[in-house]
Amino acid sequence: YYRRSWSSESSDSVISSESGSPYYRVVLIGEHGVGKSTLANIFAGVHDSMDSDCDVLGEDTYERTLMVDGESTTIILLDMWENKSENEWIQDHCMQIGDAYLIVYSITDRVSFEKASELRIQLRKARQTEDIPIILVGNKSDLVRCREVSVAEGRACAVVFDCKFIETSAAVQHNVKELFEGIVRQVRLRRDSKEK
Ligand code: GDP
Ligand code: MG
Repeated sequence: YYRRSWSSESSDSVISSESGSPYYRVVLIGEHGVGKSTLANIFAGVHDSMDSDCDVLGEDTYERTLMVDGESTTIILLDMWENKSENEWIQDHCMQIGDAYLIVYSITDRVSFEKASELRIQLRKARQTEDIPIILVGNKSDLVRCREVSVAEGRACAVVFDCKFIETSAAVQHNVKELFEGIVRQVRLRRDSKEK
């Protein structure tokens, strides 16, 4: 069913996974080196801190069913933003296929923070009429002495973006579980408001 999800129209395509719970495609985007793949590896359970199994559906694609607030939701996490061979095509594609996005920057790298704004604008252009759940992620929060972007700036940026904000450390696994639970809650909120 992965193929099917790959080729399907993006927005309202909530297809049931094998476990019967709805699944959503969550796409990691952001500047090189900010920690996207490290976050994806935690999601994949390489350093297992989450309490469910993960299927690796292919290079850069991970599936996991998360129990959040007593309800299970399957997330397919895509970490293909920096796929080297067909970069431009991949990035356009990424902008189309996500049901939700994690826009990641590093708190130690102001350029990556500025890039996050560009990506938000790009995403808005690509998906004009849709209200897509997004979390702005300030990663590497463990590197306190190298901080270039304050928490307040991150938060203010998320207000402008009209999205959620969280600081994480993939290195020490701080707030990573909360991040993935957060995106599950965001997709559910959008889903529930659509049903009304
Ligand atoms: P990507 O290019 O966005 O996929 O970034 P990577 O996940 O490959 O990470 C780039 C580098 O940053 C690697 O050396 C990681 O070990 C390191 N890194 C990722 N997340 C963190 C973090 O939260 N804290 C610290 N100190 N290093 C991190
Ligand atoms: Mg990577």
